This record gives sequence, structure tokens and C-alpha cells, in this order.
Amino acid sequence: MPHILGFDQWTHKHKDMMLISGPCSAESETQLRATATALVATGKIDALRAGVWKPRTRPHAFEGHGEKALQWLSDIKKDMQIPIAVEVAQPEHIDLALKYDIDMLWVGARTTVNPFSVQALADALEGVKATVLVKNPTHPEIGLWIGALERFYAAGVRELMAVHRGFHSYHPSAYRNVPLWEIPIELKRRLPNLPILVDPSHICGKRDTIAAVAQQAMDLGMDGLMIESHYQPHTALTDAQQQLTPEDLNQLMSSLKIRRHQVDIETDYLSQMRLQIDKLDSELIRLLAERLEIVEDIGRYKQANNIPVYQVERWRHVIKNRLQEGKNQGVEEEFLLKLLQLIHKASIQRQTKL
Ligand code: PEP
Ligand code: MN
Repeated sequence: MPHILGFDQWTHKHKDMMLISGPCSAESETQLRATATALVATGKIDALRAGVWKPRTRPHAFEGHGEKALQWLSDIKKDMQIPIAVEVAQPEHIDLALKYDIDMLWVGARTTVNPFSVQALADALEGVKATVLVKNPTHPEIGLWIGALERFYAAGVRELMAVHRGFHSYHPSAYRNVPLWEIPIELKRRLPNLPILVDPSHICGKRDTIAAVAQQAMDLGMDGLMIESHYQPHTALTDAQQQLTPEDLNQLMSSLKIRRHQVDIETDYLSQMRLQIDKLDSELIRLLAERLEIVEDIGRYKQANNIPVYQVERWRHVIKNRLQEGKNQGVEEEFLLKLLQLIHKASIQRQTKL
């Protein structure tokens, strides 16, 4: 996939990253307006999100207000001049979302897992100018995620982004969906032009760890965030545990360290390499200490057997052999000779001290 267009168009407020926020679900016009007003007032959001069709794990739960909620959202869009994002899972959702002039369509994790569903959505978008955000599938299969992106690209969608929302795990974990960062990192390596947003809300499942995961996303060079926000999180009909008040979101965003990506990658690389150097240096020191201990043992043996400390033949052999080894491994002779002499001197001092 070549260039992904449109990202800059959405990030006018933050050149380095994009923020989409809003409630998990559109619950009422009052809830949407109150939340949107507070979020827009922060000056930090690039788009307002709200689910109008909710994919629920079990039946008989709140499944969204559908078209009625699209009307609320399109009124808010006009009044507040804010782009709107909703989840679409069926071609009819796309038709309705376009009818209400919705700007961004996101494909949920439960839809991305199904190539039939994704293809049906892609077919519905043929010839339509739309921005599509593809959440990762619920299970960690990068091919399936890329496959979904490819289906939209093949249908002519050029404004594509990925959303990392973590992966379901059967094992107990501190996360609702484990982040497995190696997967979005690999996605970035394979599709460097594709913006990746991170959704810490669905990764964490609870409020208190969202800031840390958001910071991690920024440290790893991700392109933006999707965070759920509700004016009264405790009353939320869906995902009540993980939604932040607009005030808390504002604070989180202020505390976030957003570095330029180039610098991030460089810093990451440098610190990784320095960690390796640190490890090698301590290994070198440990080896020197071990060597000196053996030297001391030899010293005691020489003493007991009346053998002189310095033996020129042995030393000649050591120098010749080590310099050859150094040459084979690309270590400069002058440097290695000096180092060996220093080590030899220290060894003789150890033995004469005895
Ligand atoms: C959501 O964004 O509210 C949602 C249902 O997300 P996901 O598809 O990631 O579970
Ligand atoms: Mn949600």
C-alpha cells in the first residue's frame, strides 16, 4: 500500500499526533451535547467519537440508538464544527452514516476478524470518499488486520488508519485486552505510511492505567489516540469503568510527553544500544576479575614450587596468540597490545604481592 492520505487534514490541532475522543455509546442527545461541549472546549480533540450501533457480547444489553443518534451527532457537528467518527459493521450502517455526513467510519475489532463482513463494508465504500479506521481483530493475527486494510485500499479508500485496541487473552491480566506492542510495531514496519492510533480505553478496561498506556503509545512512536470520554462515566450504559470525564482527559493530554517521532525512534535506538554496552562492560570487568583470581592461584603455585613470577617464553606466546586472535576479530593491534601489557602488569603485581 503506498501513501495513506488525509491524516494531516485531521491533525490540524496537534501536528505530531491525533486525538479522537467521545463516549463509548451515544446514549442521549443530552449526554452527547454535554460531553462534546466539554471536549471541544479543551481544544485538544480532532474528532468526536460515539458508537451508535454497539456490538455487545451478550444479548439483551443496550445496543445503541442507531439512526436517531446519527441525527444528534450531525447536529453537533454543525453546531460545534467538529468531525464525527462512528463504528460501522454492516453496509447499511455505512449508507446511513454517509446520509448524516459522518466524517470517519471505524471498523470494530469484532468485525475486523471476519473477512466476509470486511469485504461487504469495502464493497459499500467503492467509489465513496471516506476516512476508514480499522481496529485490530480481537485475536493477535497481524495478517488479518493487514488483510482488512487491504480490502478497503482495493476498494479505493485512500484515507486509512489503523487503531490498536489490544487483544483478547484467555489468561488473567491487568489489561482488558493485552497490548502486545510487537504487533502494532510490526504493522508500522510493514506499512510505514499508515497512521496508527492507540485506544488505551479498550486496552485497559479501567480508568487508572489509561495515562500510562497512552504515554507508552507515544513513546513507541504511534500517531495518535482514541480515548473514551463521558460527561458522567459512572452512569454510562457501556464501558462505564474505562471512560474518563472530559476534565480528566484534558489533564491526561496535558501531562502526555509527545516527542517528534524521529527523535523517539533515535532515543529508543540509542538507549537500546547503550544498554548493550553497559552489559558488555560489566561482563568485561567480571572476566578481568576472574582472570586475576586465576593469576593469583598460579602465583601461589609458583611460590610453592619456587618458580619465578615472570616467564618470558610464556609471555611471548600469549602476546603472539592474542594479537593473532585480535586480528581475526578486527581489533586494532596497537590497542590490543597496550591492553595486554596493562593486564600483564596487573597480573605480575598480584603475584609479587603474595
Ligand atoms: C468501541 O470503540 O466502543 C468498541 C466497541 O471498540 P472495539 O471494537 O475495539 O471493542
Ligand atoms: Mn467502548
